[in-house]
Amino acid sequence: MSDSLLDRVNKGILGLKPYEPGKPINETQKELGIKNIIKLASNENPLGISPKAFKVISEKKDLNRYPDGNATSFKEVVSQIEKIKTSMITVGNGSNDLIEFVSKCFLSEGDNAIYSQHGFAIYPLAIKSTGAKAIKAKARDWGHDLNLMKDLVDEKTKVIFLATPNNPTGTVLESSDIEEFLEAIPSNIAVFVDQAYFEYIEEDKYKISFDLVKKYKNLIISRSFSKAHGLAALRLGYAVSSEEIAEFLNRVRQPFNTNSLALAAGVEAVTDKEHIAKSVEINKSGMEKIKKAFDELDFKYIESFGNFISFDSQMDSDSSFDFFLRKGIILRSLKVYEMPQHLRVSIGLDDEMDAFIKALKQYKKAF
Ligand SMILES: *Cc1c(COP(=O)(O)O)cnc(C)c1O
Repeated sequence: MSDSLLDRVNKGILGLKPYEPGKPINETQKELGIKNIIKLASNENPLGISPKAFKVISEKKDLNRYPDGNATSFKEVVSQIEKIKTSMITVGNGSNDLIEFVSKCFLSEGDNAIYSQHGFAIYPLAIKSTGAKAIKAKARDWGHDLNLMKDLVDEKTKVIFLATPNNPTGTVLESSDIEEFLEAIPSNIAVFVDQAYFEYIEEDKYKISFDLVKKYKNLIISRSFSKAHGLAALRLGYAVSSEEIAEFLNRVRQPFNTNSLALAAGVEAVTDKEHIAKSVEINKSGMEKIKKAFDELDFKYIESFGNFISFDSQMDSDSSFDFFLRKGIILRSLKVYEMPQHLRVSIGLDDEMDAFIKALKQYKKAF
């Protein structure tokens, strides 16, 4: 036996590196001495929080009390809007929490879970931390290759993670393809469909309906309040699954994983259709503007269905990231996603897009 405690860490965790979030604005300001930093690094809603949600949290008084551990009011509102039973809902401290619940519930050493190359970075972290093996399916045209993912299934596979739209590629899967996939794989494998960017989806064929959960008992669908709803700082998401799976997910959930402010804001945010519509509208026009600039300046980008877009910077992405940083714009280098020249840009407000495009023109000239 090794005598160092550090050598005795769970084997699955030994190979992990901490998740690197987008660079924060304050730190960058201090580091570079630039005043007006624009952060387009974490797919946040540039419009901010819904005014209705802001009102309830700024008036909230009972912060000495523990939150409602069952998230009763929040679940009731979601259940009414989405026409699902409250017992099918599991709340998460951000939807990342739900990825961990599913991993904890189903995976341990000797098992495996499948995710896609260029898929969301939290999946392999959550999988490996249980001691299970993370199997990466090679992407096709930057997106999930469902046929390959199906072929990779073996008797040890317990979970498959799908993101649509996927971050950082922005690629989508059609609902009918997911249904076909669910038909083709054994029903004793959990399929987690991450729809963190659901509100930005325009065409119905890319919206994964909660009705599918009634038909496929192994399906778990997640939604987030960090993107279109603008509540990233509060940490709120939820999963919809069969009641039986929800009961298991709730066993590993800490009783107060979602806080009172998040739950109160969530109730307002889901019903604030006006704020969502405005956010989606801003995203749409920003997306059109940025794609036009990429086309004009001859940068290749991946068609995106989320509130961000990834483009080939034609240079090592750590260097191109640095160029933009020095212009006061924080982007995301996609090196860790096996996209060594790509940068991801979150869609911001109109003037933020103009600032990015100005910097992009300077970047183009500089090399
Ligand atoms: C941003 C994002 C999440 C959301 O994370 P939260 O924990 O809800 O903030 C989940 N999945 C994907 C693919 C994302 O891009």
